[in-house]
Amino acid sequence: LGPRKPPSRKGSMADVPKDLVEQIKRLEELFTVPTEKLKEITNHFMGELEKGLQKDGSTVPMNPTWCMGFPTGYETGTYLALDMGGTNLRVCEINLPEEKGEFDIIQSKYRMPEELKTATAEELWGYIADCLQQFVEYHHEGEELEEMPLGFTFSYPATQDYVDHGVLQRWTKGFDIDGVEGHDVVPPFMAALEERGVPIVLAALVNDTTGTLIASAYTDTDVKIGCIFGTGCNAAYMEECGKIPKLAHMNLPPDLPMAINCEWGAFDNEHKVLPRTPYDVIIDKESPRPGQQAFEKMIAGLYLGEIFRLVLLDLHDTGHIFEGQDMSKLKKPYSLDSSFLSAIEEDPFENLQETADMFQNKLSIVPTRPECELTRRLSELIGTRAARLSSCGVAAICKHKKWDTCHVGADGSVFNKYTHFKARGAQALREILDWPKSKRGQPDPIEILPAEDGSGVGAALIAALTLKRVEEGNH
Ligand code: BGC
Ligand code: MG
Repeated sequence: LGPRKPPSRKGSMADVPKDLVEQIKRLEELFTVPTEKLKEITNHFMGELEKGLQKDGSTVPMNPTWCMGFPTGYETGTYLALDMGGTNLRVCEINLPEEKGEFDIIQSKYRMPEELKTATAEELWGYIADCLQQFVEYHHEGEELEEMPLGFTFSYPATQDYVDHGVLQRWTKGFDIDGVEGHDVVPPFMAALEERGVPIVLAALVNDTTGTLIASAYTDTDVKIGCIFGTGCNAAYMEECGKIPKLAHMNLPPDLPMAINCEWGAFDNEHKVLPRTPYDVIIDKESPRPGQQAFEKMIAGLYLGEIFRLVLLDLHDTGHIFEGQDMSKLKKPYSLDSSFLSAIEEDPFENLQETADMFQNKLSIVPTRPECELTRRLSELIGTRAARLSSCGVAAICKHKKWDTCHVGADGSVFNKYTHFKARGAQALREILDWPKSKRGQPDPIEILPAEDGSGVGAALIAALTLKRVEEGNH
């Protein structure tokens, strides 16, 4: 079975007024990324990855993670994992048994309250420590606990001189908490745990992409890249220390593998190659960190609904849609998330009933049939652009590493839940790689596959690998 094609819209535009047809055409021109552009972006991307390996402070940070090498599959032990994502907070206890590539996991999910994103640092660490404490007390009630090793998945760019600490470079994904950027995040986090008497030793601070890379490689040895396409977007892969010029002064063995957290969300912050629209410019300007995460702001789940909202508002303000409707709800920034777009894309095109209902229920807007068709096309355009641009990053890493074939483990709400995202990304990769049509039906050379749980199992594995390395007296 090949990828499912988006439903054909042939003939459907017949009833759409000429003015809206023109607007749709304008949007198609703005949001479509042709093959040649994908290739240009990929080439530029590869150069930026290489610059990041050479020098600290490059646009794409290429952060060394001190996660060195892949698991064998025979790691053992019991670990806690904490995942501080953009949307949820998750605490897991992972048991790695003797059997190769196996794991058991118990977990609790907590909401990351929206207010926390702009709270104080103390409130942030306090909340996280409370969740951990609750988890440990619930699952180990009345037990005399030895200190448990923890893998802390902190999914933000951090400078690491070693695996168990990290200086936050900058907040992403809408977080804006004073006094954390530029500081090691581990001491205040540990202090909050100690205050509460939670018996934990931090074994590793892990990026979600590194966790995804390691967890996926634990069960599939063809995996060479870990990606997140979720609230934010990013990737990690394994580099040889000898090919990381900015670490040359450390005299590490040149063949020693080191996971690099690319932080590719920052790609093209200087706006040299990405086809930004006026809507992308607004998103950036009104974000808490203008000028940063240019690539992420065109791709990640946090922003897709916002791009959509800005386009619709613009079309209304210029007199093309929703005449006489109450726009107050649509005027609220970040009121739509990417699941709204995905649901529109899944709505059977024949009647677009669900689309009309969603606009009415969520936004108090009653759209006409042609307006529903426009929102459908707009969702397709935004979702397709995100998937196609994402593939440029994957292709750039493969090109840099000269990998002709590999598996990519991918996770995140957009990858897992946004309809057609996988198929569109795969299609773009084929175009970038000039994969001939005649080979369709065979497995793609570079395949992006659903990952194992990176921030749970991956973080536990990295904790296990680190403790083992410490025991052996290595780096
Ligand atoms: C962060 C990355 C993270 C990605 C996916 C980005 O905003 O900077 O560290 O891997 O989101 O969660
Ligand atoms: Mg996450």
